Amino acid sequence: MNVLFVSSECYPLAKTGGLADVVGALPLALAAQGVEARVLLPRYPGTLELLHDTAVVARLPRRFGGEGTLIVGTTDDGLRVVLVDLPHLFDRPGGLYVDGAGRDWADNDLRFGALSWVAAAIATGEIDIGWRADVVHLHDWQAALTAAYLHYGTRPAPPSLLTIHNLAFQGVFDASSCAALDLPPAAMGDDGIEFWGRLSFLKAGVKWCTHLSTVSPTYAQEILTVANGMGFDGLLRERSSSLTGIVNGIDTTVWNPAADAFLVAPYVRYSTRRLDAKAANKAALQAELGLHVAPEVPLFCVVSRLTSQKGIDLLVEAIPHVLWRGAQFAVLGTGERELEDAVRRLAEAHPGQVVTRIGYDEALSHRLQAGADAIVVPSRFEPCGLTQLYGLRYGTLPVVARVGGLADTVIDANEAAMKDGVATGFQFTPVDTEQLGLALGRACDLFWDPPAWRRVQKRAMGRDVGWDAAAAKYMALYERIVTASPRAAQ
Ligand code: ADP
Repeated sequence: MNVLFVSSECYPLAKTGGLADVVGALPLALAAQGVEARVLLPRYPGTLELLHDTAVVARLPRRFGGEGTLIVGTTDDGLRVVLVDLPHLFDRPGGLYVDGAGRDWADNDLRFGALSWVAAAIATGEIDIGWRADVVHLHDWQAALTAAYLHYGTRPAPPSLLTIHNLAFQGVFDASSCAALDLPPAAMGDDGIEFWGRLSFLKAGVKWCTHLSTVSPTYAQEILTVANGMGFDGLLRERSSSLTGIVNGIDTTVWNPAADAFLVAPYVRYSTRRLDAKAANKAALQAELGLHVAPEVPLFCVVSRLTSQKGIDLLVEAIPHVLWRGAQFAVLGTGERELEDAVRRLAEAHPGQVVTRIGYDEALSHRLQAGADAIVVPSRFEPCGLTQLYGLRYGTLPVVARVGGLADTVIDANEAAMKDGVATGFQFTPVDTEQLGLALGRACDLFWDPPAWRRVQKRAMGRDVGWDAAAAKYMALYERIVTASPRAAQ
């Protein structure tokens, strides 16, 4: 089974978020299922340098304002990549989507339109790279226009799968983009990809991909509702029989408390068999962050973008509910200015008990997972979420809003789950300050019952959070859409 992944991000080549992790890891996990994958990715500055065995395999015609080539190569992990080398679109300093000042690149429509056009041309064989895909797997809006080029094109194409990693990002551009993208005028008509007078790349994928998936079963249900469908719920409901939710895995080599490269003295590595060692990490973390070094109080951490999606405003209001019990909080993140300020103010008001680090710090995020007792994820919506999965693996019990992937990956420590021995953390619903405060209180209660806490920690650490289960589900999906495709019947 040959699968062409199409994405604007792929770890370790280009990353701004969880999308890159999925696209970097899933093809490797799929190899064990017999899938031969190629990842189609723009050539950004520095990308080519991370590949070996590179070769130019095709020239790209002059389109979207310039010409270029396709370059194949392989990462150190063995991931096979095809780079879309269009220097006028992708070879520039700044971010993947924004310039140095944080503004969206003005030609993002052309940039990701070009990526999508190339994907469609490879899929149909119009561009020959010496390899044909049985399935085209599109990721998020940046790749979704591929479905429009396949739809309006005349050549037969393999079946396609669109994975929506976050419905909030929809690739919406002015109607004038339609012509610049070489789409027929019909694309802006009733049967096209018009979206409130503009056009949406994501809509092309949602309408015309053979199948749709998103990154957890609960999120797959939530996006069918007016409240969470972000304007796409009607269209998604029409396609609900072709929508599947598959929970992401995590990289269990990088995120392994027994071999974590970021855990250097005074931090120590640990496992379920050496769980006592986690206490040393807590003391080290408290000392490093300027918290009171106190083993007897629960230490909650947060590693998150500081945005309203992530419920950080709720957190700021809920923390005081448990401060009187001695609980400590360590918040690492960056994001919206008001939320950063609110977290800072809370830390200033409670020195030694609440601490914040504003910024992006990969190493500290590992030390927090290793040293804290619990991790709080109070998101208003969460397609999958990764930090709660790291928390499970590190015995750092997740306290999560019952939404999206958080609902699917954490089992609440209610009475029945404790009796059945299946609890792995704490959930709260509805997502408001009061319920978050109560959940933090329940976590404190369990923390002060050390044998029970330890049982839940061990169970959490035993959960399978790697990629194998997800890879098997994607494989089943590929087989299903290939078998059902008209080509298979030929
Ligand atoms: P999202 O992709 O919506 O931001 P996820 O939970 O899916 O949320 O993924 C967030 C990832 O980014 C996790 O790997 C998390 O550890 C990491 N992360 C978020 N903020 C920071 C930060 N300030 N420093 C280090 N890592 C962070």
